[in-house]
Amino acid sequence: MTVTPMMAQYLDLKAEYADALLFYRMGDFYEMFFDDAVAAAEALDIALTKRGKHDGADIPMCGVPVHAAEGYLLTLIRKGFRVAVCEQMESPAEAKKRGSKSVVKRDVVRLVTPGTLTEDSLLEARRHNYLAAFAEVRDSQALAWVDISTGAFHVMPLSDLRLGPELARLAPSELIVSESKEPDLRETAEDFGIALTGLARSAFDSTGGEARLCTLFAVETLDAYGSFSRAEVSAMGAILQYLEITQKGKLPLLRPPQKEAEARTVQIDAATRRNLELTQALSGGRAGSLLSVIDRTVTAGGARLLERRLSSPSRVLDLVQARLAAVFWCVEQTAQRERIREALRKVPDLDRAMSRLSMERGGPRDLAAIRNGLTQAGLIHGALSAADLPDLIADALSDLKGHDTLIDHLDAALVAEPPLLARDGGFIAPDHDPDLDEARQLRDEGRAVIARMQAEYVSNTGISSLKIKHNNVLGYFIETPATHAEKMLSAPLSETFIHRQTTANQVRFTTVELSEMETKILNAGSRALEIEKRIFEELCNTALTEAARIAQAAKALAELDLASALGTLAVAENWVAPRVDTSRAFHVTNGRHPVVEHALKTGAGEPFIANDCDLSAEGDAANIWLLTGPNMAGKSTFLRQNALIALLAQMGSFVPADAAHIGLISQLFSRVGASDDLARGRSTFMVEMVETAAILNQADDRALVILDEIGRGTATYDGLSIAWATLEHLHDVNKSRALFATHYHEMTALAGKLPGVENATVTVKEWEGQVIFLHEVRKGAADRSYGVQVAQLAGLPPQVIARARVVLEALEKGEREGGATQKTLIDDLPLFSAAPVPSPAAPQTSELETLLADIHPDELTPRQALEALYTLKDAA
Ligand code: ADP
Repeated sequence: MTVTPMMAQYLDLKAEYADALLFYRMGDFYEMFFDDAVAAAEALDIALTKRGKHDGADIPMCGVPVHAAEGYLLTLIRKGFRVAVCEQMESPAEAKKRGSKSVVKRDVVRLVTPGTLTEDSLLEARRHNYLAAFAEVRDSQALAWVDISTGAFHVMPLSDLRLGPELARLAPSELIVSESKEPDLRETAEDFGIALTGLARSAFDSTGGEARLCTLFAVETLDAYGSFSRAEVSAMGAILQYLEITQKGKLPLLRPPQKEAEARTVQIDAATRRNLELTQALSGGRAGSLLSVIDRTVTAGGARLLERRLSSPSRVLDLVQARLAAVFWCVEQTAQRERIREALRKVPDLDRAMSRLSMERGGPRDLAAIRNGLTQAGLIHGALSAADLPDLIADALSDLKGHDTLIDHLDAALVAEPPLLARDGGFIAPDHDPDLDEARQLRDEGRAVIARMQAEYVSNTGISSLKIKHNNVLGYFIETPATHAEKMLSAPLSETFIHRQTTANQVRFTTVELSEMETKILNAGSRALEIEKRIFEELCNTALTEAARIAQAAKALAELDLASALGTLAVAENWVAPRVDTSRAFHVTNGRHPVVEHALKTGAGEPFIANDCDLSAEGDAANIWLLTGPNMAGKSTFLRQNALIALLAQMGSFVPADAAHIGLISQLFSRVGASDDLARGRSTFMVEMVETAAILNQADDRALVILDEIGRGTATYDGLSIAWATLEHLHDVNKSRALFATHYHEMTALAGKLPGVENATVTVKEWEGQVIFLHEVRKGAADRSYGVQVAQLAGLPPQVIARARVVLEALEKGEREGGATQKTLIDDLPLFSAAPVPSPAAPQTSELETLLADIHPDELTPRQALEALYTLKDAA
């Protein structure tokens, strides 16, 4: 079998990247062949054609134009593909020089995967794009993660069971694991929508990893950055190894690894995070999440910082207080806050621009981003009065200054709005480089230069009919009528004018100057481009030598954006500064649920009813509110709003309340709502029990626990007993601060037995047989559950409602008279003994009675009375 040299080259490259689609560069296209072509054509919805034969069969082929490749790449990555981008490493002319049959040299320059994107068009500006690695060395585990589009690099040790929660917090787009671990983690990765990548075990070798880290950061040992366990070094090392593979040696500008400790942030497990809809709504998108309602940031960096803070609220008191102080300052200093935000609106994404430049994927617009961003940074620094600034703001300000030299340099070099790509030139400002100016002048004004030269020659020779002309054979030439031939061909003019051609009427010459000029004009365009590219590289290098300080400025800008955004939010939404300390207080006055309140505001216009919550606990005692009240009264809303208020406070934000006093919480647990996990074959009840078990096993006396309707998914007595025992355990063993909503009225008796349990209820009013939800939380137990009324509101047929009332009355009577009678009563009820459907007469009588009971003659207008009569007649 003969294989063309090109196909041989293709197959060799493809063999190295078997698990990726190979984008094989051919001129202006990336071509895909064989199975790659079939898969890509389907995924991209483009035509599948064929090219040549292999093993006697047609070779399927499809292609995408290079200039539009990014869009196609994005689609492929989103659909779960990895793409190896293979470029031509020389021009066809260079290949020919090596031999007439030589194939153009090609090589893969980059492996594009979900976790290694840097292009703005492939990334969401306001979110991080993390690549994470999980490593296990003997008994210790660690997780490392980078965002190569910003340079952030972190690592943390993991205790047992913490991988899931941390993945939920970081939401990386790709997770690297050792090949042997891949099968174990597949399900977890799928649950979180993370692309899982297995690497050879050698990539996780901690000794090799340490060497890679030391080389990257040019240090002898990693001690300067903290002390790292073997598992941590292994995870970080694996990330570097993977970046080397995917970026083909062009490593991104990573900041030294920052070690995170579990103990520094509030621990929130995956289910709680999902239930509380912190950064994502249950429906999947960002809309409807807490993040979407509180985000007032104006820069991409600020938005990413907000998401990070909200995902990892702090439990370090000093940090929380410093952040709150910064927001407080922003709330008070309206004018300064507005000035900061005005300037920030013009700040581009410095981190991502730097990252692209460092990986040689940047363009002039990235340099302009750095110029513009640093310029605004300088303005902000100049505009703020330095007196009495909170530390966080003062620190940020001091990181904004000192970039004048770089700004001036970039400003002098670049045009105001440069193009995205360096490829076509046109981004270096005039008057920056004399050679460039000349080249451009020649290119743009070639004819004018020649015209000037002609005028010069006319005056030098005294021949007014002398012309400079151009044709394809001679290029530029000087022409005089034949009558001047003699003068031109003798000294002194013959020393300058070199004879080229004589025609019937004309003599043609050139000069050294003119042929030089010609070459210059012809090459001017490409020369201008070359000079621009050289200057571009110089500018990139200058910017890159400042990378650390630019990163610091970017961080400071993000901090300022976040503080002023939270300040703006607090003012606009009337939020207050929480008091946060190390006590075990939890006292919220007139708290609100920001998302529900927002929805009500934009919706029907019903006001949100604010509610107090006091779970403050003394010593190590528990304090639990047992919340009863009908469905739809607002129990879940109340539970969630208090959890959100605690998180907001600890992320350093003001809170939606009139006052709040929060003693630091360490862990937040919630068991809210019920959803089947059918994909894993777990029933609602099973999911509920798994989550409850996790809470009871882990919650400590600094945890805040929120339990909604535990035990709902099973039979009444089972459910009640499980709820009962859970509450007791929380009270006696976990000693957490907790909110416990239940529809089991029997449980209200616990308040009398356990000192740390109090009853509270969401009030409703009954009016003419209907419930009206007041949404007010009060101390005490609910009198009834109003289930029948709620069912009526939901539109159950009147017959069913009427029947339910009868059954309920019988059951309640039974309860009053003791269990035994209840049993007989229940047996008497046809509903419970599979009795025949009640005869048609029965419901009719009941319905009439109900209708009659609902009529209050004193309140009726004559017209309503008439209508009531008609209704009664209809029912009879
Ligand atoms: P429950 O958990 O008791 O069934 P929810 O908390 O789901 O009730 O609340 C039901 C609806 O009532 C919510 O969707 C919201 O529109 C409204 N609601 C809840 N709490 C309040 C409140 N404090 N003020 C105004 N409306 C509220």
